[in-house]
Amino acid sequence: MLPRAAERVGLFTESVIREMTRLASLYGAINLAQGFPNFDPPRVLIEAAVEALRSGYNQYSITWGAPNLRRALAEKLSWYNGVEVDPEKHITVTCGATEAMMATLLSVVNPGDEVIVFEPFYENYGPDALLSGATLRHVPLHLEEPECPFDPDELRAAFNKRTRAIIINTPHNPSGKVFSREELEFIASLCQEHNVIAITDEVYEHILYNGRKHVSLASLPGMAERTVIVNSVSKTYSVTGWRVGWAVTRNEGIADGIRRAHDFLTVGAPAPLQEAAAMALRMPRSYYDELARMYQRKRDLMLEILQRAGFRSILPYGAYYIMADFTEISSEDDVAFSHFLTKEYGVATVPGSSFYRDPSMGRRYVRFAFPKKEETLEEVRQRLDRLAG
Ligand code: GLN
Repeated sequence: MLPRAAERVGLFTESVIREMTRLASLYGAINLAQGFPNFDPPRVLIEAAVEALRSGYNQYSITWGAPNLRRALAEKLSWYNGVEVDPEKHITVTCGATEAMMATLLSVVNPGDEVIVFEPFYENYGPDALLSGATLRHVPLHLEEPECPFDPDELRAAFNKRTRAIIINTPHNPSGKVFSREELEFIASLCQEHNVIAITDEVYEHILYNGRKHVSLASLPGMAERTVIVNSVSKTYSVTGWRVGWAVTRNEGIADGIRRAHDFLTVGAPAPLQEAAAMALRMPRSYYDELARMYQRKRDLMLEILQRAGFRSILPYGAYYIMADFTEISSEDDVAFSHFLTKEYGVATVPGSSFYRDPSMGRRYVRFAFPKKEETLEEVRQRLDRLAG
């Protein structure tokens, strides 16, 4: 008999998103499953990364992040997010938002604590919770209604004595919801009433449509000390492979805990790419307007393609995904349908069930990621046109 893996890793399965990426390459399908751009970042960022490699940034940087990057982060958090932080104390640079979320949960959750998450949710939060000993408590976003609202009473009912934290992902993956200031104020009041920590995953903060504005929960009165901001360069600068992210909080006890967890998880994020990331964060403000415009064109194109093919899309106001109801095209379940689309039509998506605890709730949906070149999306159009007959 051979030694077996620990029970801990048996509690969750392989990532469905990454599994669909593998399936896409197996069948030569266009990968609209995993959300990453198939185009390059701005040229200046590539040059900055090369320059950093040539200039001696090849050993560990300070565990909690290169000073230059932490300064750039504090500047940007001030002008864009309305949050004032001390780069010496409040910021930890991590290997992507993925590590930032894990290090944050490790630093705030005791085994048995509950963490509230809106559902559907990005699949990483499930294993993150399990690894940190948290129990997730789910609050539905109502996808069938415009702007995917939550019910305030349902949210209030989710808070109890064991609640330790709430994860808020805005703009939201996979629904594209952008939480309004009023919604965030309501969440803030519950956090204060129940002494709960908010963890905000803001990786899509610049990808906004129809004039929507991003609000950081930490900028609301009284919230900077009870919020941890999680973010990264991946989506904003089209560099998902760089693995540079951060966790930021003005709560110094928690900030210190995050630094300790991070130190022993990964020691540090890639040093040369931290230098290039500092340059990214100092891009002119017009860069962000152009990014949002570019994604609005892609969103509109993708909505049109999906409508022609017979899908019913949930209109996203942010992020770069579309949850699409396919019940008018097929009566199969989401997993069968997404495998069918990948194999027979050469377009890979993520089955909706992977964003729900109860698979039946995602049965009608597949998620399309559209951070792709226009020519790629045009090719998707050709392939999906066949669906409509
Ligand atoms: N956040 C991206 C998505 O939802 C990438 C997921 C991943 O592979 N880390 O597709």
